[in-house]
Amino acid sequence: MQRNQWKTASEQLLSHWRRSGITHVPTGKPESIPSATEWLELNENSVFEDNDGYANNNATNGGVANDNATNDGAANSDTSTAVVIPASVQTHSISPSPLTTQVARPVGAVSDFVQGNWNTPSLDFVARQAAFQELNEQVMACRKCEDIVCRRQRTVFGAGPTTARIVMFGEAPGADEDRTGEPFVGAAGQLLDKILIASSLKRDEVYIMNSLKCRPPNNRTPVDSEIDNCRPFFESQLETIQPDYIVCWGAIAVRAVLKSTESVGRLRGKFHSYRGAKVMVTYHPAYLLRNPDAKKLTWEDMKMLMREIGIKVPGSA
Ligand code: SF4
Repeated sequence: MQRNQWKTASEQLLSHWRRSGITHVPTGKPESIPSATEWLELNENSVFEDNDGYANNNATNGGVANDNATNDGAANSDTSTAVVIPASVQTHSISPSPLTTQVARPVGAVSDFVQGNWNTPSLDFVARQAAFQELNEQVMACRKCEDIVCRRQRTVFGAGPTTARIVMFGEAPGADEDRTGEPFVGAAGQLLDKILIASSLKRDEVYIMNSLKCRPPNNRTPVDSEIDNCRPFFESQLETIQPDYIVCWGAIAVRAVLKSTESVGRLRGKFHSYRGAKVMVTYHPAYLLRNPDAKKLTWEDMKMLMREIGIKVPGSA
């Protein structure tokens, strides 16, 4: 692992902990570590002692090797990708955000949900980061969609914590996303932010991604072959995150995740399933900008999601 990769992973782990109320990295000494930089400096010798990769020596580092036995079954037997996590933090698992603590679903909710399974064991945090980095490099090099690659400026991989319990799944990048490389940053993205805030969710607590990683020319609707071209990428992302919930924003997201051509109107209002996740369907924010009357339907959908994950719905008892 390179120094900057370790620092990025440390910052994201600390950020995730902060949302769970843990503000410092616990240590065996009275002092705890408040920042990724200090954490990095403390562990620099042990983590980077072999220069080209992760140190992996329990005896000398007092750390715990990141193998299948110690990290909830992560498929990470390749020693070139093993990493030493300081022993002092091994006992602290990544906690779900208090905002998304799961509770029992309401009795009688109409649902097509059938509990499925993810295809692979859950990865630990560092393995997720490494998987996403490798996948993103493949996306940036991808040229499968001939009509798209010659006009794209940037690929748009996705954004958010790899440990998110909720994935917001959209259609394809637009002009703003193509320019910035970030998903949902234009007018539709601003509306999504408002919807999330109204739902007591924060943008940095959910993972946001699209069916396509590149902008179709003139924002045209993606065709099925393009969705299929990009399927290995978005399915790998979902398999890596293994969220509890996926929100499909619009018909293209439905086609990608549920492989259904049913309308949003027929699919919304109940949960569907994708592997181990419950899938909610609602209207795309861009559609809502053009059809403001549909906003109340999306708000009903978001309230269904809030009730499902235990967030108090405004105005409810
Ligand atoms: S949309 Fe997906 S499959 Fe098509 S070129 Fe971009 S990354 Fe490749």
